[in-house]
Amino acid sequence: MSRARVPFWDPEGSRHGGLPTYPWRMAPPHLATKRQLAADGLRPGGQPVCAQVMWRTRSHGGRAAGVPATIGVAYLYDRALAKPKREPTAAQREAIAKALRARRICPECQVERDYCVPRRYGVCLDCHERPERPGGGS
Ligand SMILES: [Zn+2]
Repeated sequence: MSRARVPFWDPEGSRHGGLPTYPWRMAPPHLATKRQLAADGLRPGGQPVCAQVMWRTRSHGGRAAGVPATIGVAYLYDRALAKPKREPTAAQREAIAKALRARRICPECQVERDYCVPRRYGVCLDCHERPERPGGGS
């Protein structure tokens, strides 16, 4: 009898250490690797690994304990339990905006520029290029 055996197909986790195991690219769509979550602006959010994908590799296998170097492993997380990536709070955003605004205001002419005042001049480019700066000698 011939059985088309798909390597690593083990949704029950009976052969691969208790974790449901799928061949690369054959995992259910609601599961994703950390990298895939990150691409969607998500993070695992403290949930345990709920499955893994395995594939044959020559280059970068053996990352998990007890897994031969010829097998690559990636852990999968449930998208439903994933959380949005940490974003700055409103207060933090406000503080950042304020700091940026302060850096755009020229201490000499008090004009808010659409760029940050270059630190090495200490004034905006207009003030820097103005041939005679007020109070600048006779
Ligand atoms: Zn200026």
